[in-house]
Amino acid sequence: MNKPSSVISNNAYDDDKDFGRTPDLNQDAPGRRRTGKKRVCKFCADKVDIVDYKDPQGLKYFISDRGKVVPRRISGNCALHQRKVTQAIKRARNIALLPFTVTA
Ligand SMILES: [Zn+2]
Repeated sequence: MNKPSSVISNNAYDDDKDFGRTPDLNQDAPGRRRTGKKRVCKFCADKVDIVDYKDPQGLKYFISDRGKVVPRRISGNCALHQRKVTQAIKRARNIALLPFTVTA
């Protein structure tokens, strides 16, 4: 076993969440770190080519708890859709559907 030493609390009792970490979107993935399973962009999988900026619930998946955009390596988006998500988040922020920042 070669587990990373940073993973000590295995989601059993983790109420110390007020540090600016992005949520681990892969925590439900089997086998923890990527084990050859191909990750596919969820927009490509659903054949969605327009990311709706008027849908903050859908966009919330792509922002961290601090309000930052979740990076592509975590969200698993392809480059094209990550760009569209970013654009949609910026538009949604501008019309106050999403926060620019979340202060703790
Ligand atoms: Zn895509």
